[in-house]
Amino acid sequence: MTVIALIVAAGRGERAGGGRPKQYRRLAGRPVLQHAIDAFLGHPGIDRVVAVIGAGDADLFAAEIRADDRLTAVTGGETRQVSVRRGLEACEADGPDRVLIHDGARPLVSRALIDRVLAATDDGRGAVPGLAVTDSLARRDGDGLLDERVARTGLMRLQTPQGFPFGTILAAHRERPDAAAGDDSALARAAGLPVVAVAGEERNLKITTAPDFKKAEAMLAQTLETRTGFGFDVHRFGPGDRVMLGGVAIPHERGLEGHSDADVALHALTDAILGALAEGDIGQHFPPGEATWRDADSSRFLAFAGDRVAARGGVLRHLDLTIVAQRPRIGPHREAIRARIADILGVSVERVSVKATTTEGLGFTGRGEGIAAQAVATVALPAMAEGENDADTATDAD
Ligand code: MG
Repeated sequence: MTVIALIVAAGRGERAGGGRPKQYRRLAGRPVLQHAIDAFLGHPGIDRVVAVIGAGDADLFAAEIRADDRLTAVTGGETRQVSVRRGLEACEADGPDRVLIHDGARPLVSRALIDRVLAATDDGRGAVPGLAVTDSLARRDGDGLLDERVARTGLMRLQTPQGFPFGTILAAHRERPDAAAGDDSALARAAGLPVVAVAGEERNLKITTAPDFKKAEAMLAQTLETRTGFGFDVHRFGPGDRVMLGGVAIPHERGLEGHSDADVALHALTDAILGALAEGDIGQHFPPGEATWRDADSSRFLAFAGDRVAARGGVLRHLDLTIVAQRPRIGPHREAIRARIADILGVSVERVSVKATTTEGLGFTGRGEGIAAQAVATVALPAMAEGENDADTATDAD
């Protein structure tokens, strides 16, 4: 059973301000669209994610959105409906069983909501998240005066993700390519597919205007808790003519020894992030005895840790790295190292601090026997509910 998430992000979204399409504006450190993509990539029920992007946005997408083996981008069209159809057609060759169609401007979609939509589509029906209407409803006339009341009984506000059998929704889009049908559930119903409503979430708001950004930021802040992690690593000098430090090759009369490329700085950073997640250490995920990691580019380890933060629904807030070396001098390379680390993790360079110190000739670093690195990572993660702690740490008690 293959399930694809189709995330529609082809609109221009100028009402939200900010000079670029709203889906690429940052929300708690990540583009709005990245939040939505991460929610689906991190869900075990979703096999692949396809983002439908605006014509001309390919460079922006490549620059702002983290690459992933399970993520592809497709160019959309003039209207949302055309964009969805193009996205569906791009998936057709893979023959998925189901598709969840989601607005790229809804970054706060929860795992529980995706669960509900998936469960409701198990029996071949369509499913749509809906919220009851609680305010009174009325039409107004052309002069802005109140006209007739609209009974709210039975009315719902519809959200996404909307889930459908893949073949049915693709056929429905092809049957009515020009219809201004509203959302996908309207097309599905017109094609005869029963569509059920599942409970939507107020939190799953669609970012449309500038105040929506503030609201979404506040909602995110309420549900995140701060974790810190510490990392430490040492590598000894050996033969060579350069050292890898923070993903940057620095010419030196010696190299660093190690199973991988021996980038002591990236190793400390990786351990700091894994520490904040309480997900073990670098050696556990990339055992030094395994031939796969011989001479490996350590940026892979750091990117993995960054991906784990995203998969947990978290945000990397800050990294602080200290390189302890008598030589080579780090200062001239500091900005290149910051930029490289920020690039590997897809965060802005302002969130990456790189410091260096000698040990005044004392100890193994002072004697020039090796280089050490220390790192602190600050990560915001979805807050655990009360009582979760006991279950999660039960195995540590014995
Ligand atoms: Mg190491």
